[in-house]
Order: sequence, then C-alpha cells, then structure tokens
Amino acid sequence: AARYDVVIVGGGAGGIATAASILKRDPKLSVAIIEPRTEHYYQPGWTMVGAGVFEPKSTCHSMASVMPKGATWIREAAQSFQPEQDQVTTANGRAIGYRALVVAPGNVLDWDAIDGLAATLGQNGVTSNYRYDTAPYTWELVRNLREGVALFTQPPMPIKCAGAPQKAMYLSCDNWLERGVLNNIDVAFHNAGGVLFGVKDYVPALMGYVERYGIDLNFESTLIAVDGAAKTATFREKTGEVTRAFDMIHVTPPQIAPRVVADSLLADKAGYVEVDQVTLQHVRYPNIFGLGDGGSTPNAKTAAAARKQAPIVAVNLLSVLKGGEPVAGYDGYGSCPLTVEKGKIVLAEFGYGGKLLPSFPKWLIDGTQPARLSWLLKSEALPWIYWNGMLKGHEWLVKPQPIERARQAA
Ligand code: FAD
Repeated sequence: AARYDVVIVGGGAGGIATAASILKRDPKLSVAIIEPRTEHYYQPGWTMVGAGVFEPKSTCHSMASVMPKGATWIREAAQSFQPEQDQVTTANGRAIGYRALVVAPGNVLDWDAIDGLAATLGQNGVTSNYRYDTAPYTWELVRNLREGVALFTQPPMPIKCAGAPQKAMYLSCDNWLERGVLNNIDVAFHNAGGVLFGVKDYVPALMGYVERYGIDLNFESTLIAVDGAAKTATFREKTGEVTRAFDMIHVTPPQIAPRVVADSLLADKAGYVEVDQVTLQHVRYPNIFGLGDGGSTPNAKTAAAARKQAPIVAVNLLSVLKGGEPVAGYDGYGSCPLTVEKGKIVLAEFGYGGKLLPSFPKWLIDGTQPARLSWLLKSEALPWIYWNGMLKGHEWLVKPQPIERARQAA
C-alpha cells in the first residue's frame, strides 16, 4: 500500500492551508491530499455573488491550481478510516498509510432534510447562497423582485458561517431599499434558533438594520417543507405548523457531519472529528488531527477559523512526528463579516465562549459597529489573502501561540 508521512483528507480551506503550512515548514516530508473534487471554492464569496457584487467565477479555482507544490493529490474520496492501522481507505478500495493524519472534510449540506427542497431549488423563487450554482439565482431574484413576500431561513446550529443567512437578507433589503420597492415587500426571517446572533455584543447593530428594513423576526421557527409549484413554505413552531406563501425564499440548509467521519472511530457523538479544542489533536489517536467545519471544536465554523487552525495543526503534527507533544494552541477564533448593507459590515470576531477577539484596534475598526473599512476587507482584502496567503502557507497575522496562552484565552 502507498504510504506517506502525512495524509490529509479534504482539499478545502482547512486541508489545503494545512498542507501548505506543513510543507513550508518541512518541504522534505511526503504529503498526500485525498480530495475527489476538481474545483476548489471560496465559499465566503457566495454571499457577495448573491448580492451581485462578485462574479461567480471569482470564487472558483481549479483544485489542481491550489494543490501546494510538493503535495501528492489523490483524486478520490476517503471512504473509511482504520486508525489502529494508520490507514485510510478510498472509495476505490485503495489503502493509504500515514505517519500522521489530518481530517478536514468540511460538513455536509443536508438539502434532503427539508421536504420538497431539493426538487425545486434554483427555480420557482427558491434559492440559496450555500451553493455555487444557486448563489447567482439569489441575485436574479433580488434584482427582479418589486413586490410580494421574501422569506429567509436559518436551520438549527451548527452551520457554517452562522451569519450567512442574515447576510443574504440584509443585502437583499439594501437593494430593495435603494430601488424604492422595499415598502412593497414583506420580509421575514425564520430562525430555528432563539436569538438573532449568538454573541450578544453584535446584536444591537444588527437590530438597527432589522428595524431599518422592517424585517419580521420569527424565532424557533424551523423550515420543514417547501412546495415550489405552490410557492409555499412550511415551518415548525412551538404552537404547531405554519404554512406561508412566498415570492422568493432564501434557504440555508441544515448541516451534518460527513458520513465518512460519523461512521468511524474518529467521531464524537455528533459525528464530527473528536479533537481537543485547544491542540486540535484527536482525543484517542495522537497522530491524528482535525480542523475546519468537520472538527468537533465549538468555534464558529468559518474559513477564518480554519486560517488560524491550520498553522496550529501543522506545528503540533510536526512535533508529534518528531516524537514530541503538541506545542501550539487555538483560542477558538472565528470571524463572521456581517454584510448589513452594500458598503458596510459588522465585523464579528470572537473565540470560545463568545469572547471578542478583534484583529484591529477599536479606533480603526470597531467590530460591533457597521464600518466601511470592514466592507473593503471583505470585498477586496480577504479573497486575496485566502488565495495568496492562507492557501500558500503564508501566515500573516496568524503566528501560532503557545498552548497555555490559548487555554487561558479560551
Ligand atoms: P470545505 O472548505 O467545505 O472543504 C471540505 C473539502 O473536503 C471539500 O473540498 C470536499 O470535497 C472534501 N471532502 C468531503 N468529503 C470528503 C471525503 N470523503 N474524502 C475526501 N475529501 C472529502 N467563512 C468565513 O470565514 N467568512 C465568511 O464570510 C463565510 N461566509 C460563508 C458563506 C457561505 C454561503 C458559505 C457556504 C460558507 C461561508 N463561510 C465563511 C464558511 C467557510 O466557507 C467554511 O467554514 C470553510 O470553507 C471550511 O473549510 P473546510 O476545509 O473545513 O471545509
């Protein structure tokens, strides 16, 4: 069987960044990335695609082009894990051995959990920014809508980028306000959860926009069915089921752990890779690490989190390969740039326990307030940093901190 020093499962944000980080630190190691897709997506850009700000193509590069120099790309899906034998088996039945393993398969969008959704997504006014091929449809619906009912939904946690359901809504409302049609559109947010945003410091600024746009907020209201032809959506609420007619609906799908992990010895109860939340090392297998949306760590599932986690996994994995212990720690940093209007963002940045972890001094960017500079960060700087920094192993502003410091912060 083929055998590598390091095998990485998943060539998404976390997997590629970790491979690049490891190879930058030790180019002599043999590193293989198991990833079936031929495209790599910058998913944070899809919010901007849905608002007509980014071209869809700018969010997609070929997988070949993001593979770090020196890494071997195994173009297959991982099918099962044999951690006792230091081995991964692919969908084609190939066994691949490793000295250390990184598991980063993201999470899975569970479209089928909502009755009728998969059949009608992308038509009949039913859209989602959570897919490359439907994010442009959001923009088509928004710019053509002049009156009627627009619904935006948020499923139970955990989801990737918990702010994205709201971002789609605010940017749509901003367009309708600008075109003078917002008064003719009933906008409602249906959130399975009980609060607008999980970290309370950001809620006042968001509530300001909810009021400005006249949004009807519904909490503990979970989308369970969509009928595209009839243009109705059904929600489960405390008092029973409610069916509403819509002209457009933006759906954020429920999200679950990938089966390949959930069915393996690596999983926690929820099916995610069970790692220590500070060292990102697996709690039962010291030569296995997990990061990104597929990890069990209770941070905000964002590319921003993966950007901070990747160098920590790299440093700790290299230490373990040399017979040592993990040395670097993760404080739970994640970031959610909430696009409250075209040109302004509430830049949520926080770690474990909702502790605010701003990257900038308050005089430059106060994350709890809408700011133009944050919009420039999201629209100009972050995509560039993603493609040219994070995926290339350039770790600007993400120096791994010692474990003790991260534990204190966490
Ligand atoms: P992914 O990037 O999803 O990559 C997982 C990879 O694993 C994929 O390439 C997949 O093909 C592969 N894979 C899956 N199963 C297997 C298998 N069995 N074998 C091998 N490979 C496999 N983040 C932010 O920081 N800021 C934002 O503003 C933001 N906005 C977002 C808006 C939207 C609409 C969406 C959808 C996401 C947003 N995110 C944002 C979240 C961000 O995109 C994710 O958190 C990030 O991509 C997670 O990286 P990952 O590597 O864990 O997973």
